[in-house]
Amino acid sequence: MADLISIDEARRRVLDAVRPLEAEDVPLDSALGRVLAEDVASAIPVPPFDSSAMDGYAVAAGPASELEVVDESRAGHPATVAVRRGTAVRISTGAAVPAGADAVVPVERSEPLRPGEASGNGRVRVPATATGDNVRYAGEDVRAGDVVLRAGTVLGPAEVGMAASVGRPTLRCVRRPRVALLVTGDELTHPGERLRPGGIYSSNRFALGAQVVRAGGELVLAESVPDTAAGTREALGRALEAADVVIVSGGVSVGPHDHVKDALREHAVEERFWGVRLRPGKPAWFGIHPRGLVYGLPGNPVSAMVTFQLFVRPALAALQGADPAAPRGAAVLDEAVPRNPRRDEAVRVRLRFDRDGWHATPTGEQGSHMLTSMLGADALAFVASGEGEVAAGERVEIELL
Ligand code: AMP
Ligand code: MG
Repeated sequence: MADLISIDEARRRVLDAVRPLEAEDVPLDSALGRVLAEDVASAIPVPPFDSSAMDGYAVAAGPASELEVVDESRAGHPATVAVRRGTAVRISTGAAVPAGADAVVPVERSEPLRPGEASGNGRVRVPATATGDNVRYAGEDVRAGDVVLRAGTVLGPAEVGMAASVGRPTLRCVRRPRVALLVTGDELTHPGERLRPGGIYSSNRFALGAQVVRAGGELVLAESVPDTAAGTREALGRALEAADVVIVSGGVSVGPHDHVKDALREHAVEERFWGVRLRPGKPAWFGIHPRGLVYGLPGNPVSAMVTFQLFVRPALAALQGADPAAPRGAAVLDEAVPRNPRRDEAVRVRLRFDRDGWHATPTGEQGSHMLTSMLGADALAFVASGEGEVAAGERVEIELL
């Protein structure tokens, strides 16, 4: 770990190694959060026909008049009789405007005449109307042939709804990256089991697992790995077999019980970086393998989560063809933060909006083992290395979590 590289350089090396995954058809009910692999053009206009915006009467536009009601057009049940001079068709919101009509009079602006009449639909008095009054024209929302969704879009509720409104039951989406997670350490204990002397609960297994899912990955394997050379080597073999992205947490330092680097070498994983000028997260390791990307993240819980956010999350986005950049901005620091002499610090902050823009307050103690510093954190604030401190009131760059 001779030369530490910058956060940006590390991210560049990660994104350079990414080759987007192939696409598959996804039913709309499963498409939320997926990344679109095609441009979606509409084969039909939306709305598909001229329809009424109100309950009322479809008429031929013209001066105030008395009209004979000759038919009804309900949503899903168009009228069979056309409108002619002197006639109107009763119409519901969303129903097709009948032939011969080009305006709709809302029911509350009409006056029924002879309402009790038994035969026929009666007569109605309507005020003057102009062409297009209360009519929604075919194609007002989408014209036939319009591209409504672009490849690379992360599908939210509106995008899924739009796909449905143009009649698509499935969408071509990039396959979700398969991720294998290996948490190393003889001290690790599964929640629910009794802590032995020297044991700790394995928070990384669940925090990193949740980050994988939130980033659109599919967690296909999650194993606790003992601090032995053979155990580490075998688990890494299974992980490389199963996944597009392998994440190993812990064991990536240079202690006598750190076996990850040897195992990576034995499986011919090619190193792309080891060591980032970052606090927390300096020992982060990244490499490539014919089957995909491999990360050695630090074991400390905060370092693991921060390095996931900075180096793994962008890769999972890029593998799916989405924009890897997290939303960024600037915020005023509300508390002074001392600078680290050698490493840029990713300070966990809460954000609040004020008249002069966003303000950031550190979440509390920032030790790399203190998971409480991640609780309620809205963003990472970047404090560049150097002497002294960033004073309260100075602006810093932030990346939203
Ligand atoms: P290591 O990188 O293996 O030297 O671990 C650094 C620190 O992180 C040690 O204090 C470990 O006990 C701790 N640690 C490693 N893995 C986990 C985990 N899965 N959950 C919580 N803490 C961990
Ligand atoms: Mg360890």
